[in-house]
Amino acid sequence: MNLLYSCRQVAELLTLSQDECLRWHQIVRLRIHLAMCSNCKNVALQLTEVQQLSRDLFSGGDDDTEARESK
Ligand SMILES: [Zn+2]
Repeated sequence: MNLLYSCRQVAELLTLSQDECLRWHQIVRLRIHLAMCSNCKNVALQLTEVQQLSRDLFSGGDDDTEARESK
């Protein structure tokens, strides 16, 4: 068993984690890899942003406009 994931495995897991929960040992190894690999860290950040964007879209997405108008 490999202690560390390859970049490809990390990408697969990141995609997987959007639909289902990862096991704790997957999360630990994922985090270790992300701490060392700036490439995958960027991918993870982008995925999180996309996830948040689509969440905003589906939940109405008015929050952003309201916040801007009140300032
Ligand atoms: Zn990597």
